[in-house]
Amino acid sequence: AQSYVGFDSITRQIEHKLLKRGFQFNVMVVGQTGLGKSTLINTLFASHLVESKGRFEADIQPRSTTEIHAQSHVITENGVRLKLNIIDTPGYGDQINNEGCWDSIVKYIKDQHSAYLRKELTAMRDRHIPDTRIHCCLFFINPTGHTLKPIDIVVLKKLAEVVNVVPIIAKSDALTLEERHLFKQRIKAELVHSQIRLYPFDAEENDEEELNLNERIRDMLPFAIVGSEKSIVVDGKPVRARVNRFGVINVEDERHCEFIYLRNFLTRTHLQDLIETTAQIHYETFRSKQLMALKE
Ligand code: GDP
Ligand code: MG
Repeated sequence: AQSYVGFDSITRQIEHKLLKRGFQFNVMVVGQTGLGKSTLINTLFASHLVESKGRFEADIQPRSTTEIHAQSHVITENGVRLKLNIIDTPGYGDQINNEGCWDSIVKYIKDQHSAYLRKELTAMRDRHIPDTRIHCCLFFINPTGHTLKPIDIVVLKKLAEVVNVVPIIAKSDALTLEERHLFKQRIKAELVHSQIRLYPFDAEENDEEELNLNERIRDMLPFAIVGSEKSIVVDGKPVRARVNRFGVINVEDERHCEFIYLRNFLTRTHLQDLIETTAQIHYETFRSKQLMALKE
């Protein structure tokens, strides 16, 4: 179906308790202003919204560009609830002087770890701790077709230390398929050169199928995305699409962009792993550093 997200298929793998409570999934979007962050979030989740009013839009209210802004939504699919927090960040790298523009973003991520740790240390063993830890950070790359900006490398490195980062080539309809391919190769080479290792990570308990899937995802990254909040009728069916000088770009057509791969990855194949990796790797690293510091 056109608007099927697919997180309901996760249910098979999930504990009953977790299921009743519903998943809590916290996604942060990072990137320059105007790269389509709000649009992509709408494209991904808007049609499944049940519990937030109005447009599924992180910037309904005029807001200062210096503030990090969280919005909660509940989306449901075939009876499965997904509690979604979208954390919109001020367009970093918008300023002339971008020194430290990532500080507030990294601090926000660490603050959530810190809040969780405080609750963990004081809570009763079996009490549920509300989870505001960022499970996934979508990092929007300008579709220049050339290289990453130096500031992108710096910020990617900082973020990758504390959160699962998923890079995205924003507004990829600006690139031909060939340009897109070359751009990806260049970005990959730059990441290797800068020794930035991004999610997904292979774990010892991964079976062959999971390892293969991770390999395919790593091959594909960064996802080349087109977002749209508008529907256009193609072959008699409404599809989310954009019209540009090349014609109609159908967001959900894999020949046009990799939106459906991102959606599958985010809401189906890696939803649970993003949450677990956050707890087991990023949070654990934070936690052991904090506890170590307490002992000293
Ligand atoms: P944000 O500042 O990163 O949240 O960006 P917005 O989502 O507000 O989008 C900024 C502008 O870019 C809007 O006019 C969108 O319609 C447009 N836009 C969003 N996604 C795309 C895309 O994939 N391709 C193109 N060509 N334009 C886009
Ligand atoms: Mg926005």
